Amino acid sequence: MLKIENLHATIAGKSILNGLTLTVPNGEIHAIMGPNGAGKSTLAYVLGGRPGYEVTEGSVTFDGQDLFALEPHERAAAGMFLGFQYPVEIPGVSYLQFLRESLNSQRRAREEKELSGAEFIRLAKDKAALLGMDAEMLKRPVNVGFSGGEKKRAEMVQMGIMDPKLAILDETDSGLDIDALKAVGAGINSIMRDPAKSVLLITHYQRLLDYVKPEQVHVLSRGKIVRSGGPELAHELEREGYAEAAA
Ligand code: ADP
Ligand code: MG
Ligand code: MG
Repeated sequence: MLKIENLHATIAGKSILNGLTLTVPNGEIHAIMGPNGAGKSTLAYVLGGRPGYEVTEGSVTFDGQDLFALEPHERAAAGMFLGFQYPVEIPGVSYLQFLRESLNSQRRAREEKELSGAEFIRLAKDKAALLGMDAEMLKRPVNVGFSGGEKKRAEMVQMGIMDPKLAILDETDSGLDIDALKAVGAGINSIMRDPAKSVLLITHYQRLLDYVKPEQVHVLSRGKIVRSGGPELAHELEREGYAEAAA
């Protein structure tokens, strides 16, 4: 699904990713953990194609295609979903409008038929129910006045609607209380636990991994993967800290 080889990337001339190599097979969830400033968000941005990040070396293959040959919107149309650490607010646009336009632009790019208003509302209600979210919330402007938990639940509703092949989730658990954490974890499992899908779960803490069991855990330090292991590695990191584990 995702094959990253010797990836180097810079921002504002500063080298942030320094030879990162990582493979996520179909049907697997991999967690990336690491200290603040290790380059976790940078990795998510580079994979998403955010302007300002320059790839200076290495390659990334997504579902058999050269990722860097695809524009950001083409990456989304090819089935990549990014969830960000800091979700944006969009005053004046309701969440439902935003979701419908996201879905329909993806369907247009794939030359699929757009959903009717009624079909879309049914889908949005189904996905909201899955996340324990009142669909009425989705009539409000995107993220404006949403709590941390509401933003993340809504983002998972978006993920359910987009139905991606690969989800890259950056600190989806940050700032969540235990109920929201459980709901988001259950959402990730029900949307993404599939032999044809994969997840790159970027997280600072072990606790989300109690709800979403990764096949592998990787430690990112100073722009490269310094250790990989099974779910027990996350517990070791929690106990001993990143400095020990990366040594
Ligand atoms: P993490 O998500 O692991 O906490 P980031 O990827 O956000 O780490 O940041 C990695 C490093 O890149 C940090 O040292 C950060 O200060 C630096 N960095 C991030 N964005 C910029 C930027 N726009 N300009 C300069 N340095 C940046
Ligand atoms: Mg950080
Ligand atoms: Mg980050």
